[in-house]
Formats: sequence, C-alpha cells, structure tokens
Amino acid sequence: MSYIKHMAYAVKSVDETLRRYQTLLGIGHDARVVVAEKSRIKVAIFNVGDVEYQLNESLDADGRFSQWIADRGTEGLHHICYAVEDIDAALESALEEGGTLKLCSVCNVFGSHPHPEGYVAFLEEETGGIELELMQVYTPEELEQYKSIRGI
Ligand SMILES: [Zn+2]
Repeated sequence: MSYIKHMAYAVKSVDETLRRYQTLLGIGHDARVVVAEKSRIKVAIFNVGDVEYQLNESLDADGRFSQWIADRGTEGLHHICYAVEDIDAALESALEEGGTLKLCSVCNVFGSHPHPEGYVAFLEEETGGIELELMQVYTPEELEQYKSIRGI
C-alpha cells in the first residue's frame, strides 16, 4: 500500500507562489519556509489534505530548480514522492518490470539511500511526464538514528 508522501514543485519564487495558495485557495497559512544553505534552496512545506506540498526555489541562477525551470521554460511539478512500506522490495519489483534506477542529483547515489525523512530512490522512468521518487519513511527509531549519525 503506497500513498503520496509529497509533491515537489519547482518555482521561481516561494513567497509569491505561497501567497497565491494562501489568497486564492486559503491554504498554506501554516507553511514552514526553510532556507537550506547546504542544498542551496528555499522551500515552503505545507499540507493539502493528507498530501505534503513542497515549493522549491533555487538560491542560485544555476541551481537545480532554476536549471529545471530554464530547461522547460516554465515552473511546474518537479516530482511526486510515493511512500512505500519496503523500498528494497519496491525497487526489486520495479527493476524486474523493466524500471531503471536514476541518480539522486543531490547525493550522487543510485538506488535506496538515506535522506532526512526516509530511505529514498529515484526511477529513470516517469509517469505522465513526472519524475518518480520512492520513500520508505523512517520509523521514529530510524529517524533518531539518522539524526544522531548526522549530528542534528
Ligand atoms: Zn539523495
């Protein structure tokens, strides 16, 4: 059983996009806006029902999301992250069906590897033109372990 962990958008301005959600739809008033110096992004995170939205803005003109917008000529839905129970099993099944692992451009790693919220992997194949991310969300114990290793 999988569900949508988050939908990540590439935007030119987090503030402007967030304001539109707030004024036009009345959502996102509780958004957390974080500037991540290490990954050089500004991100707004909020929930729409059970789905987490992430609005991503690169801090640099040649950043990951700036580049993506420049390549397509427009902002848009960058990827959808699906939560899976067992990422190794999910990947094994996807690869058996002809799927291909995609490089994580942030970590430079193929296949399952730890991210702040869980083990993630990317697939080369897209659905409806949207990049696929899989995540096995950490248990509270795994989250503690990740934080202690990273010294967070
Ligand atoms: Zn990564």
